[in-house]
Parts: sequence; C-alpha cells; structure tokens
Amino acid sequence: MSINVSQKTVLSTKELFRQADFDNILKCVHCGLCLDNCPTYRELGDEKDSPRGRLYLMRGLWEGELELEAEVIDPLNRCLDCRACETACPSGVPYGELLEKARGIILENTQQSLKERILRLFLLRGLFRSTNLLIIASWIMKIYAASGFPKLITNTFMAKLLPQAFVFQQYLLPKCSGESFKRKHADQILPSFSAEGKHGDASQIREENLRVGMFSGCIMDVSENAIHNSTLTLLRHIGCEVVVPSNQSCCGALHVHSGDRKTAREFAMKNITAFNNRHLDAIITNSAGCGAQLQEYHHLFMDSDDQTQKDVWSAVGLQNFENKVTDILEFLSAYMDLLANLPWSKDEDIVLYDSPCHLMHAQKVDENPRKLLNSLPGVKLVVLNESNWCCGSAGIYNLVQPGLSSAILNRKTESICQTLAENPKASTIVTANPGCLYQIRAGIRSNNINLRVLHPVVYMAERLMVN
Ligand code: SF4
Ligand code: SF4
Repeated sequence: MSINVSQKTVLSTKELFRQADFDNILKCVHCGLCLDNCPTYRELGDEKDSPRGRLYLMRGLWEGELELEAEVIDPLNRCLDCRACETACPSGVPYGELLEKARGIILENTQQSLKERILRLFLLRGLFRSTNLLIIASWIMKIYAASGFPKLITNTFMAKLLPQAFVFQQYLLPKCSGESFKRKHADQILPSFSAEGKHGDASQIREENLRVGMFSGCIMDVSENAIHNSTLTLLRHIGCEVVVPSNQSCCGALHVHSGDRKTAREFAMKNITAFNNRHLDAIITNSAGCGAQLQEYHHLFMDSDDQTQKDVWSAVGLQNFENKVTDILEFLSAYMDLLANLPWSKDEDIVLYDSPCHLMHAQKVDENPRKLLNSLPGVKLVVLNESNWCCGSAGIYNLVQPGLSSAILNRKTESICQTLAENPKASTIVTANPGCLYQIRAGIRSNNINLRVLHPVVYMAERLMVN
C-alpha cells in the first residue's frame, strides 16, 4: 500500500524509535540465515523485502539515519508478519515485536492512503468493536452467500470481467452463522458431559474438574460456528467446565499487525478484565493468530507512555492472564489418555496437516497437535510439503496486498497439490487458524481441488461417535 508521508510530531524519527525500546535490533548479526525462509523475499528477490533488509531499515530509523518515507515504509508494509524468520534466526531476534512496534510508529506519524483510512475506520475501529455490528454483518454475508451471487461471479463470464481481487474474495467468504457464540453461552458454567451424567461417570474421567474459559474472537464469534462448537464439545468430553465470558472482545491481532496499537490496548484491557476473577485454569483459543496475540499482550504495554494504563495492566495481572492462554490442540494433547477412552470412528482416512505461522513460529506449538491427530484411530496424518510456509492470509494482508498474497497462496496451493499427488486418498486438509482456513479454502476452491479444509477440532469432533 503506498503512503503519503507527512510528519505529524515534533519528535524526530530517531526519538520515536528510541522511546519504543528497540535495543533488541542489535541482536541481528546480518548472517542472512533467515532469508530463504521469508515468503516475500522468495517472491520478490529483493533484500529490502527480506527479514535482514527490513531489520536494516528499522535500524536506520532507530539510529536516525533514515526517515519515515515511502521507500522505507513500503517494504515494512509488505511483510506478512508470519515470523518464519524468527524460527530460522540463531540469534533470537524478536522480529515480530520489532516490526509491530515500527508499524505503530509509522501509523501514528504518517498520513495513510484513503483506502487504508476507510478500512481502519469501518473495519478495524468500527466493526470489530461492536458485537451487534458483527452480528448484522454476519447476517448480510449469510444472505449474500445464499443468494448465489458468489457462485455467479466465480463460475460465469463475470469472473473475467470483474477485478480479479474481487472475484477471489468470493472464494474467501466465511460460513457466517448470524449469531454470536459468546452471547449464546453468555457467562454460563457449561458442565463437563460426565458431570451432566451424559457420557459416564465424572470420576472415571478425572478426579477434579478443570474450569476453562473459551476465547471466541470477533469474526469467529459470528462465523464458522462448527469450530467453536467442536472445541466446546471436546473440552466437555475430557471433563472440563467451560465458561464463555460475554464481555470479551476481539484480540486486537489485526490491529497490532497493521500498527494500531491504541485500539489493540483497548481490546487487551477488555479481555483481561473479562477473563480475570473467573477462577479459570486455562483460557482456550482455537485461532493461532488470536492465541499468539493474547500471549503477547505485554508487548503492547511496554512501549505505552500512559503510566495509568501500565498501572492498571499490572494490577489486573498480565502474566497470570498470558500464562493461561493455551491453544486448544496443545491443551487437548495433554489429555490424550482421556481422549483415548472416548468412542472414535475407526474408519481409515488420510489427513493433510498445515502448520499456521502463528501456531508454529509465534506460539512455538507444532509437534503436539500432530501427535494428537495421529493418535486418532484409523487416521494417518501427513504433514503438507512446506507446511511451515505462510499461505498469504496474514490478517487483512490478502485485502491490502492482494497481488503478493495471491502469489504466496499459489505456492501453498502447489504444495497441497504435490502432497495430494503423493497421497491421493487424502480427504481433508486441517489448519488451526481461521485466516489460514479461509485462505487455503479459497485456494482449493479456485483451483477445483477435491479436498475438504477444516479446523482440526472440527475433524476430531466429526470422528467422535457421541455428540
Ligand atoms: S515475518 Fe515473514 S514475511 Fe516478514 S520478514 Fe519475516 S519471514 Fe519475511
Ligand atoms: S534476523 Fe537472525 S537470521 Fe536473519 S540476518 Fe539477522 S541474525 Fe541472521
């Protein structure tokens, strides 16, 4: 996205970066080991679009040798924030944290394009703040999907006449439910199935029930309800009491990735307030991106100059909150002995596994979900070729950088086709992040590939012989 730059502050660029605590940028020794893991570098072949190049640019801003101008900002905006470079880096450079701080400074001190201002106003600062608006939007999308227009656009001559980005967005449409999951279960304590006497005796499941909170997100709260319902079902089957706080909000990940740290801080405060004081053993997420954001809320407050906000944050127990946030697959993998006692289908199936960037590179969760899925009777899990490669979704990247996103998705789709050719009986591909799910599903649909795309918990719940 191109940007008209105009300084709005009296502080110099160097002072802005010094205030934001960028010292960790010195960890980069410019070895270049991250380069081959960077999707934008592989696509564009330009050092400025590599992790090392972007770190050079950020360091130039931090040292006052560069200014906030388009040649510096554009490569930073083209970054997916996928954090594959963090996994590859032997020096422990916290690339994601540095990039997100830099984007915060850029947003607050430069003039954005009209397209970006509209997106921020209506989407990030409007829609995602209001559950009522999200429900209305979900209904509108549901009616639009049922109208047949998306298929008319993608399956007829219209696909050639209309802008390609718009045609592709038809494939991206989520399955909207028209209702809010958190409002449906608002603050009730949903007992484990065994405690309800539904599927056996509680004492056979575990001696002491765990109480967990479920994070429902923004778009996920009103769409793809099979994911939340399956999560709830599996948690209750392993003897958990589940609470879905009605006053929780969007996690703020999309805001942080695009530099809007102020709105993200507002969401962080709401979420910590919503989940605290409910005596929870864990806060469960089924979105890799949301989980990574919830676990890293402290990044947002380290560079806040509002002391009151810092004080409130420390009073409500930041660390306590972050430590409890656990991805559903990581959580279930700790109870594989209990899961083994449940009645699973034994039908043979081959499932392809994709590792979402924010599960693998940000949360460092990779092996346990694979073990969990491989433990299902009859299931053979095959890790996708280049499973760790970004799909190009990256929050709203596929809306603001459609060309590059599409090129990165093509590579993912090619990997899927290769893995499918080696495993022609595979029925399903699973991925544990909603953004990746929409993006990969769009790639599958637009290429007429015969595979289902599901969240792993939906696949697991499907194989349960009880509800
Ligand atoms: S976050 Fe991803 S796209 Fe950005 S520099 Fe790192 S590897 Fe490249
Ligand atoms: S980010 Fe890490 S891997 Fe990449 S150049 Fe710097 S030190 Fe090397």
